Amino acid sequence: MKQPVFNFSPGPAVLPHAVLEQAQAELLDWQGSGMSVMEMSHRGKEFMSIAAQAEADFRTLMAIPNNYKVLFLQGGAHSQFAMIPMNLARGKPQADYLDTGDWSLKATEEGQRYLDVKVIASSADSNYTTIPPFASWQRNPQAAYLHYTSNETIRGVEFDWIPEVEDVPLVVDMSSDILARPIDVSRFGLIYAGAQKNIGPAGLTLVIVREDLLGQVLDGTPSMFNYQIYAETESMYNTPPTYAWYLSGLVFQWLLKQGGLDAMAKINQRKAEKLYAAIDTSDFYNNPVDPDCRSWMNVPFTLANESLEKRFLDEAAQVSLVTLKGHRLVGGMRASIYNAMPEEGVDALITFMREFEAKNG
Ligand SMILES: *Cc1c(COP(=O)(O)O)cnc(C)c1O
Repeated sequence: MKQPVFNFSPGPAVLPHAVLEQAQAELLDWQGSGMSVMEMSHRGKEFMSIAAQAEADFRTLMAIPNNYKVLFLQGGAHSQFAMIPMNLARGKPQADYLDTGDWSLKATEEGQRYLDVKVIASSADSNYTTIPPFASWQRNPQAAYLHYTSNETIRGVEFDWIPEVEDVPLVVDMSSDILARPIDVSRFGLIYAGAQKNIGPAGLTLVIVREDLLGQVLDGTPSMFNYQIYAETESMYNTPPTYAWYLSGLVFQWLLKQGGLDAMAKINQRKAEKLYAAIDTSDFYNNPVDPDCRSWMNVPFTLANESLEKRFLDEAAQVSLVTLKGHRLVGGMRASIYNAMPEEGVDALITFMREFEAKNG
């Protein structure tokens, strides 16, 4: 069976076809166990081996140092917006937040419920098409941590650099660009990501946290929101999202087979650059983001003639290019081209865009 459509959904998003085929082959009987992974006890030896392999492969892919814990959680990135201040305030009254768009603002609003939150710089003035230059950030060296969003999924703004912050722990929401390129984990206090963009199915949230930051939760923090408890129980304090964990593990193996994150970065860069080039060389399409911070993962674009949008989406769907509608806050289109989007999908989109322009331009 070939890939039925090219799915440009922002999330839940496309998964590698080979991974879905493997899951299908193993659905009823995982490796001779006679059981589906969905039916296994999370404490049984079969699932424990699946869980351990997934963590080991994730650590290999991201080159995670030994003094970091990897936690397999639920609740999405939204839960992290609260868990981070609850766990990382560590008796400090204030935390720094960078405002680069809709997701960083959401994190800021939730953080405010637990801490005195300071927005240290904002790109709101540019309608979130830029990243405020590092030199303009009004940082507090006493802050509990500095939070930023490495890829703003809605408007397509991505960091290709890591802020040089040594005095306070750096905390990053990587929900939509984790595993897209190699990063130096040792520069961070905490990295978090919901799985459903660039990892696996919805229901799993990954946290990578430096061990020395654990163990100082705010009074009254629910056990389910305490990183330390997950760290001590290998994320099995309660029943984890076993099937999402397993499927993410298959994605990690697939990524290793592709050559790891160096190889993925090359492919992702090539996919993104050709799509931006198609947009930039046409007066018919437009992307407003500063070329220095355009996302490799989410590419929003508008049509010069807004009234053609519906026709664009309908005709794209007829040639199996689906879920291209932009976020309601931005309008227009958005092509999410995560790791699992084959390069042929991007090529097919570019071909369609050229043909649509020739007919309607
Ligand atoms: C999708 C997304 C979120 C929200 O994720 P949930 O898992 O739905 O809570 C947060 N941050 C970023 C950058 C996202 O892309």
